[in-house]
Amino acid sequence: MTVRTPVRTRFAPSPTGYLHLGGARTALYSWAYARHFGGTFILRIEDTDLERSTPEAVQAILDGMQWLGLSHDEGPFYQMQRMDRYREVVKGMLEAGTAYLCYCSPEEVEAMRERMRAAGEKPRYDGTWRPEPGKVLPPVPEGVKPVVRFKNPLDGEVTWNDVVKGPITIANKELDDLIIARPDGTPTYNFCVSVDDWDMQITHVLRGDDHVNNTPRQINILRALGAELPQYGHLPMILGPDGQKLSKRHGAVSVMQYPEQGYLPEAMLNYLARLGWSHGDDEIFSMEQFTEWFNLEHLTASAAQFNPEKLAWLNNHYIKAADNARLAELARPKMEGAQFDGAPELPAVLALVKDRANTINELADAAMLFFRQPAPSAELMSQHLTDAVKPALAAFAERCRTVEWNKAAIAAMLKEVLAAHGLKMPQIAMPLRLLVTGQLQTPAIDAVLELFGRETVLARVGKGL
Ligand code: GLU
Repeated sequence: MTVRTPVRTRFAPSPTGYLHLGGARTALYSWAYARHFGGTFILRIEDTDLERSTPEAVQAILDGMQWLGLSHDEGPFYQMQRMDRYREVVKGMLEAGTAYLCYCSPEEVEAMRERMRAAGEKPRYDGTWRPEPGKVLPPVPEGVKPVVRFKNPLDGEVTWNDVVKGPITIANKELDDLIIARPDGTPTYNFCVSVDDWDMQITHVLRGDDHVNNTPRQINILRALGAELPQYGHLPMILGPDGQKLSKRHGAVSVMQYPEQGYLPEAMLNYLARLGWSHGDDEIFSMEQFTEWFNLEHLTASAAQFNPEKLAWLNNHYIKAADNARLAELARPKMEGAQFDGAPELPAVLALVKDRANTINELADAAMLFFRQPAPSAELMSQHLTDAVKPALAAFAERCRTVEWNKAAIAAMLKEVLAAHGLKMPQIAMPLRLLVTGQLQTPAIDAVLELFGRETVLARVGKGL
């Protein structure tokens, strides 16, 4: 595949809701493709649907892109700020004869379509106002504001080689003379997209496959404008684990719910990268690696299935790999009620508990062990703090005063105490856990004791004696 350069890609969301996983994946691929070629990635906000577009949704998109680190080189451009440009292009097309005024009322067009449906034909505009050589147009009705229609080719077909789906052909007969400007002059969706892709010199359009039907219309408009065509790639949608269209039922669909639930952006990026693209058997890779590998040749044509377990697995991988100070910053706000005064350092605690955490939220929960006063139930205490164990605990407390305070020395000392009292490890580890942390399940006892520090361990064990 020869690549038109310099590569210029865009992400063009409509701000009608949050940034969802499918949108984020489209953005990621467009971004990665531009980065791969040292090209330009453009962010364009398609906000012409005034009823459905909101400033909150724009912000949600910007937040999502920022969280993922998908930085744009140009934009964000807002279509609502480009109205003058669209009007200018409409005017130029009217002058060039690639568009024309149509004075049919919506009712007339509907009646026209109804007649065609009744005759078993595909309903379409019948070309009443379409100028043709030698054709006499109807007299212009008074007081009617016309729409502007695109003069779509009547015959032939539109073919493009979709980088995801392969060659796609649509007969021009299937395409109406699209309205490109409404009676009040406002331009319509496909027209704005075409003008933008032209003006922004987009070389590669990656988008969801719900846009396949728009593509032949946009190609015809671009051709009429004399524009060079971008390459198109339509990404199949993302399905839920049950094979249905991904929706709220399947959990979070908004990208910004993921930081709330404790996911790291690098896990999400890695996950989305593999959801519809592959590089051999590689599952775990950085964005540097991804942008180096990513081309349009290994995009998956079939629908991708969202797999929350795999995302959690990747998140666990990236949590384990993450710097503990960074994890501490993310976990701290999620540790409600934690008493940090006099407690171990949070990064050191996270280093101890992070292996098993799939999310920052789980990490924060696990870390709480070190930041609250232990309050074991009386029942558990009497169950584990038996008379047989107490003398060993007392000996342990005594040795604690002088033992070198590190994990290995504490472990060796514990073994000696056990041997001297003829006990097995759990017999002392359990009451120790209860007294020091209030819980029976903790990471390795020697590591836990080391982190709490001599003073705290002595004080808490002392309470059990
Ligand atoms: N604004 C469209 C959407 O959010 C995308 C249009 C495009 O990428 O061409 O679905």
